Amino acid sequence: MAKRKKTGGRQHKGRGDSAGRRCGLCGKTRKLVQTECCGQWICDDEGEYVLFSYVHNSCSRNHRRYTLCGYHDAEGHSGAWQDCSICRSAFEKELYVYYGTNEYNFTKLENPPSYEPTKCSGCGAVISLAEDGYSIQGSHYWCERCSSEKLRGLRK
Ligand SMILES: [Zn+2]
Ligand SMILES: [Zn+2]
Ligand SMILES: [Zn+2]
Ligand SMILES: [Zn+2]
Repeated sequence: MAKRKKTGGRQHKGRGDSAGRRCGLCGKTRKLVQTECCGQWICDDEGEYVLFSYVHNSCSRNHRRYTLCGYHDAEGHSGAWQDCSICRSAFEKELYVYYGTNEYNFTKLENPPSYEPTKCSGCGAVISLAEDGYSIQGSHYWCERCSSEKLRGLRK
């Protein structure tokens, strides 16, 4: 019986054929890695992140931390994040849409669900859950200003 050698299975990470590759987020062509979650080319810049700087300047970090794709993979959900009901119920609709459509995504959520804007229970101002500061009390949201006023005891 002839023995057959099994080939394949292992993927070579070629270093020489990087022509045409660029980070799917910012377009840089140097120092790229493939994301674990979706296999896209992205800047290998995680190491350059300065601790406590809070700057959103790392493509790979941004994709992993601020998108449904990264979250879905990190939490070990199955299937595509676009169809994932766990992801959908894990966030406020507004944040779900933000994480699915922000600039850190390679593929944006098609037909994102519509949502009512979140309004401050104190002054009625619209609060962007993705970008504004706010506090939550039960089902009430308080904008930054009302939160600090409450803290100072000016509002009950
Ligand atoms: Zn990049
Ligand atoms: Zn991804
Ligand atoms: Zn998921
Ligand atoms: Zn307010």
